[in-house]
Amino acid sequence: MNKSFLSLPQGIDKPKCHCGVFGIYGSVNASLHTYYGLHALQHRGQEACGIVTKSINEKNHSVFNVHKGEGLVSEVFGDSKVFKRVLTGNSAIGHNRYSTTGSSNSRKNIQPFVVNYRLGNLAIGHNGNLTNAKALRKELVDEGAIFQTTSDTEVILHLIARSKLDNQVDQIKEALSKVEGAYCLTILTDDKLIAARDPYGFRPLSVGKLNNAFVFASETCAFDILQAKFIREVEPGEIVIIDEEVFESGEIKSERINGNILPEKHCVFEYIYFSRPDSFIFGHNVDKMRRRLGKVLARKYPVRDNDGEKVIVISVPDSSNTAALGYQSELEKNGVPSKLEIGLIRSHYIGRTFIQPGQEKREIGVRIKFNTVKGVLEGRTVVLVDDSIVRGTTSKQLVNLIKEANPKEIHIRISSPPIMHPCYYGMDFPSREELVANKFNGDIDKIREYLEVDSLEYLTTDEMLEAVTEVNPENYCTACFSGNYPTKVDSTFKKEIYEL
Ligand code: SF4
Repeated sequence: MNKSFLSLPQGIDKPKCHCGVFGIYGSVNASLHTYYGLHALQHRGQEACGIVTKSINEKNHSVFNVHKGEGLVSEVFGDSKVFKRVLTGNSAIGHNRYSTTGSSNSRKNIQPFVVNYRLGNLAIGHNGNLTNAKALRKELVDEGAIFQTTSDTEVILHLIARSKLDNQVDQIKEALSKVEGAYCLTILTDDKLIAARDPYGFRPLSVGKLNNAFVFASETCAFDILQAKFIREVEPGEIVIIDEEVFESGEIKSERINGNILPEKHCVFEYIYFSRPDSFIFGHNVDKMRRRLGKVLARKYPVRDNDGEKVIVISVPDSSNTAALGYQSELEKNGVPSKLEIGLIRSHYIGRTFIQPGQEKREIGVRIKFNTVKGVLEGRTVVLVDDSIVRGTTSKQLVNLIKEANPKEIHIRISSPPIMHPCYYGMDFPSREELVANKFNGDIDKIREYLEVDSLEYLTTDEMLEAVTEVNPENYCTACFSGNYPTKVDSTFKKEIYEL
């Protein structure tokens, strides 16, 4: 009998999160703090993780120490001896990975990457995706560069190492002025911790303080776990430099990647699904924005029970909990009788689960992960609020599960528009053909028929922007919904493009 195992990521049938980065300068517990920071950022990447620290040896030379591996942070750093025996030193960077470019199977692709070159040691962690990496890689290979990994991040390393400039910050600036697309970087050198964010600001990155130490993280929830104080976000197109002088004075050094200030294009999906609701990104609390998405959804697409009873609003836990809260509170505000209930129970203890040969992986996946609270749903008009639909297979199976509880009606409300296009900025959606909205040409009624529910509504792109915008709706990337890419993209790009 063939044994088969099912490994379920955080959200079944959701776009896969890119990565999470962390950095710290000036802490005697740098590696331990990085470990906790990576814990808080685990939702941004669950395939692999790593920490690099910088220590000083008996000859007064700086030494880079590395520990990385495949798995969750708790698994890779399961042996606490690694912090005392390997990851010593006062500065560190860490990375959680979900592969976007580069094979997920290659251990070589696990970050942070470390190199030793003309100007010393350098380690780098990257969140995002470069849109011109394929062309740059080809140029570099033609010039004789030998690549060790299949990741786009290595392109940045080669550009830095090949620079003729004599200052590492200038080399980094020069390299970043050549790359395009999405990046948030933490870089460790022999005497500095550097953070950089691409000029569009696709992904979030913040700087904070933990006593006298400086910390960087993709999301502020990584500061909270350490009780570090949020200072500000790293601005789009900014390089923040922390060195001994900054550590002593407390005054951050900041430089621009290049002279051009580009319009901000924050990834709106960070608010919809990716970031944790307890994080502060792009100038707002994620919780507030996610609630507002739910509220606009309720204003535009309310559901009433035909017999005047309360409609039962449920979420797909955990990612749509906050949108469901917003949806139900707005229904109430507008006089629609409703009740927020916990109608789906999610198991948090799946890990790798054995499945019988021949069992449909996705179907058993949904049943292992979710069950209904039948007493809550039976005989009621149920509104299932979800943040997004990707392939639609999970939504269909959830609907089937809910039907087993004999509700009166099932309505689905989605707090984002239909996903129609691929992301080139670091999110991993399935192929265009697999996206349910694409399969049905964006026809929502056809998707409703496929899901076999009484009604289905999504936010439109304008409605979504109305929810998340306080100043300028132009400040967001909406390309996976609208097809309007803020940068030139290479449509031949594929995740495996760099396979060796
Ligand atoms: S295409 Fe979609 S997922 Fe990708 S950066 Fe833009 S909004 Fe975010």
